[in-house]
Amino acid sequence: MKFDKAPDAPAPSGQAIEVRELRKSFGDLEVLKGIDLTVGRGDVVCVIGPSGSGKSTLLRCVNLLEEPTSGTVTVAGTEVTDPDVDIDRVRRRIGMVFQSFNLFPHLTALENLTIAQRRVLRRGKEEAERIARANLARVGLVDKEQSYPAQLSGGQQQRVAIARALSMDPELMLFDEPTSALDPELVGDVLAVMRSLAQEGMTMLVVTHEMSFAREVADRVVFMDDGVIVEEGTPERVVGDPQHERTRTFLARVL
Ligand code: ADP
Ligand code: MG
Repeated sequence: MKFDKAPDAPAPSGQAIEVRELRKSFGDLEVLKGIDLTVGRGDVVCVIGPSGSGKSTLLRCVNLLEEPTSGTVTVAGTEVTDPDVDIDRVRRRIGMVFQSFNLFPHLTALENLTIAQRRVLRRGKEEAERIARANLARVGLVDKEQSYPAQLSGGQQQRVAIARALSMDPELMLFDEPTSALDPELVGDVLAVMRSLAQEGMTMLVVTHEMSFAREVADRVVFMDDGVIVEEGTPERVVGDPQHERTRTFLARVL
């Protein structure tokens, strides 16, 4: 372990995420076939594409839930694919929200928000609860702190999951289809929370099928198919005026 990399030091360059020539295989199956992607600080980038195109794998390579086969991933100036980097310290700076909410069922909403703050960040009980309550307020759930996940709707559980990630003071947030498991009437509240986060300047990399969200909130939209980025650009360009046949075929199915 090297200690001269100082992963908590401010990044020299302005980019939040830089992915270069990223490849990932599972056995014989090459899932990512050379991905180059840059996300600037404060940017919202939406990744769209058919099921199986590698979107989740890309996100999981950014915080090393999957180990890339080759290529580099740099997060806030720290090359996370460098074997000498302390990945736990890097992961702490990245909030991740999944399609399934992954809350602890035996803990209240408040406890779900304090446990990692206390164990990982070593915050005291009072400080952790103060930060947890502020983040429950941020997602519109101040009155639910004593509720258990089973007592909350899917949309409320997902908002708790977002508040939990925010309680760790992440520099950037990764969202993997955060509304795909929700009943349609619950999607809007979750998207509203994500929209306000974007307005506050949070860096966000979002895999989503919500084209209206991508159009309204994304600075850039990335269309992936079969392990490559087929095209990327402003939402007006990629969603409104796609240049590639594969993008047009995909959009015709989801719009
Ligand atoms: P998407 O999120 O775009 O639907 P994924 O990244 O989940 O796509 O998956 C891309 C491909 O990689 C799929 O063919 C999937 O079956 C395969 N895959 C994903 N994770 C694994 C794994 N852990 N082991 C083997 N194959 C995997
Ligand atoms: Mg996926």
